[in-house]
Amino acid sequence: MRRRDFVKVLSTGVVGGHALACAPVAAPASAPVAGPAPRTGIDPGSYDESWWNRRPLRLVQTNLREIDARMDLDAYVRWMVDHSVNLVLLNVGGIVANYPTRLEYHYRNPFMQGDLVGDLTSRLHAEGIRVMGRFDFSKINEELAALRPDWLYVSEKGENVNYNGQVHTCPSRGYQQEYSFRILEEAITSYPLDAVFFNMVGYQTTDYSGNYYGDCHCEDCLRLFGEGSTTTRREVANDLFTRMHRYIRELNPEIVISTYTTVGVDMVSTESSSSLSLAHEWNYSATDNVKRTFDSYNDLVPMNLVIGFQAIGYRLNATSPAITRVWQTQNMLHGGSLY
Ligand SMILES: [Zn+2]
Repeated sequence: MRRRDFVKVLSTGVVGGHALACAPVAAPASAPVAGPAPRTGIDPGSYDESWWNRRPLRLVQTNLREIDARMDLDAYVRWMVDHSVNLVLLNVGGIVANYPTRLEYHYRNPFMQGDLVGDLTSRLHAEGIRVMGRFDFSKINEELAALRPDWLYVSEKGENVNYNGQVHTCPSRGYQQEYSFRILEEAITSYPLDAVFFNMVGYQTTDYSGNYYGDCHCEDCLRLFGEGSTTTRREVANDLFTRMHRYIRELNPEIVISTYTTVGVDMVSTESSSSLSLAHEWNYSATDNVKRTFDSYNDLVPMNLVIGFQAIGYRLNATSPAITRVWQTQNMLHGGSLY
């Protein structure tokens, strides 16, 4: 195996620290559906006129709480301008809809009085700052989960996982397989998003505290993966992910797509993070993440997040400024973006 091929194998098996519980979603040899058409207008492996391909982005993600819908929007945008940000990762939908959704099973932020996504997108665009919409279909608010048990993860003991009011969904079931497409359609046709990002893709076996629940045993998983079946979770997840990306491109061919896979994306999400529970605080983490994508693919761009909090489970503690500087410097030195 050539080094480049070996690196590709490694790449598809690593989905980033933020997605600690994610199953790798690598492309099977024979994907059941065609992927998105190759993007036109970029020069793979070279600088071109696009805003994202081999361009130095300065991306900030503020993972908004529900109460932040009432924050000072002028101050938020001013902070982005003052820090020379040119791409903001903004919570749009999935777990919480930060816009006035018309969909029955899309949980609208109860603290929002107007249209947070609409207001922020127009204000940021007015400052020349692009917007990447964040979606997370891995969980659903417990109020809606109670109405749709047919969408939920089920453990071998027959139990759902409710993590602080957010209930795990299963990629084999209707929420992720079908309803997520309606949410994407509503958001993408309502707002001029420049890019989208997906959090927590694939089959989950643990919660954010690291509690292990095992593979899902819902009716749909038992049907798909039960005795005698040769279908794998990886194939189903990849099929879903590929269809989702093709659908997004049909809705808006200009949207740039990113998540923790190398399948059907433009930007490959990775993370450099500290951790008190896992031994993966590594000085060369950002170098590894950025170079792995650049050295393996001509048509993909790394998006390596330097996580601001200490670790999953310790989100109120900030990562050391020293290691943050090291990782951000590595991001820049190897041609990646500040994130
Ligand atoms: Zn399931």
